[in-house]
Order: sequence, then C-alpha cells, then structure tokens
Amino acid sequence: MRQFHQEGLIYYKFDCFDDHAVDHAIFSRVGGNSKGAFTSLNLGGTNGDDPRDVLANHEKLFRVFGRSYASRFDVWQVHGKTIVFSDAPRPPEKKHSPADGIFTDKPEVTLVMRFADCVPLVFHDPIRKVVGIVHGGWQGTMLRIGAEAVEAVQRHYGSRACDLRVGLGPSICGNCYQVGEDVRRQFLKEWGKEAEPFFNQTENGLFLDLWGANIFTLRQAGVEQIENPRICTAENLQEWYSYRKEKGVTGRFAVVIALKGNG
Ligand SMILES: [Zn+2]
Repeated sequence: MRQFHQEGLIYYKFDCFDDHAVDHAIFSRVGGNSKGAFTSLNLGGTNGDDPRDVLANHEKLFRVFGRSYASRFDVWQVHGKTIVFSDAPRPPEKKHSPADGIFTDKPEVTLVMRFADCVPLVFHDPIRKVVGIVHGGWQGTMLRIGAEAVEAVQRHYGSRACDLRVGLGPSICGNCYQVGEDVRRQFLKEWGKEAEPFFNQTENGLFLDLWGANIFTLRQAGVEQIENPRICTAENLQEWYSYRKEKGVTGRFAVVIALKGNG
C-alpha cells in the first residue's frame, strides 16, 4: 500500500488497483474533528460520537477524496452475507438497508464502508468495470462472504473471478484476534476440517486468522489477484480504530471506492 497526506488526513491506496480506472482510499483515523476515544476521523454515526463532528469528518473526507458527499452509497453493516448492487447514490432521506457487501458499475456512485477490526475486502473488476467493498468480521468470514461476493458479481455483472483484484484493508491480525471456543465450534460446523488451519491455540488463548480464512474463501471462488498489506488495527492504534483493543469504545475508519468518471 502507498501512503498519502492531504489537509492533515493520512490515507492509503492498494498497489493492485489501476489509478486510471478507479479512485479509492482507506482513510486512517488521523486528521478529523472527533475527540476522546473517537479521535479523530470517525465515520461511525451510531457509536456515541458527536454527530456534528461525524458530519464534519464526512465532509472533509469527501473533499479530500475529490467527490461529492451526495455521491455516497452506504449500508447498515450487520455481519450477514447480503450483497447489494447500487445504481445510484443513497438519497439522504432513504434509510440504510442491511447488507455487508456493496457493488456498483456506475461512476456516479461512491461506495463507503466503515471498519474497526473487521476485514475490508475491496474489489475491482477492470474488465467489466465494477467496484465493491465487503465487510468480513468473523461471522461474515464464516459465511464465506468473500466467495458470496464473487458469485454475486459473476451473476450480476458477468465478471470472471480471474479478472477480479481484491485488496484486504487494515484489520485485526491472527496474533491479536482472540476468540472463544464457541467461535471455533461454529466454524467447524460450517467448514468442517477446513476451518482448523485458521485457529491457533496458544497458552494465552485461542486465536482466529481472519486474513487467512478470507483469502482461502476468495481463492476457492477462483480469485487469483489478492493484495494483503498485513496491517493490524489492534497493533497500530495511532492510525486505525480497533474495536477489540479499545474495548468497544472507539470510532470507525472509512474505505471508499468509485469508478473514474463523473460523480
Ligand atoms: Zn495484530
């Protein structure tokens, strides 16, 4: 990933996406208005932060990103496996629909999702000209949301898995993500023995490798071009929010992507 600085914000771009075809950025928590546990570019609207700061953060982010706030399409992320396709920005008066994957082939739409430990899977199909973002927490990962997304873009846009480029954004790593035995039990029920390599029992407890599990499901779905910069949210609190490390009181950072064009 490459790092950029603009107006006090720090953001990153994957190497695997063609900057001539897509605009995308993973915005760190640096440079926003929010205070305290939310310092400072918090984009989450339901975690207790001051709504005026959250709005100011959105406006600053979209200004730096170079696209209008009105172009955004976002959803209510619910740890399921529903994928939605957007043909237009979400009107401000329209409620967020529940989903954990969003895709578009329209340049006038800017896709936005919010994260704090869950894995951002960012998609670009340069052939069919489609972009998307998927939210992979442990539940979505267990439900193979990455593979669901690949099948969804194949059906909806005629994409081929081998053309897809997928970047894994900052998220909690397998050394930091401690889980309970119930999580392993549920994974084993869904995945059988295939789940075992992604769990690591140490003297400190049981740990789950979300990166490995998501890459496994993407590869099973036929994706070949995967970029994982291996940035752990829990180990880099100066730049990222970590729900786990900050014990639930924290903000959400934003991942944004759009096809080049108007918008
Ligand atoms: Zn870590």
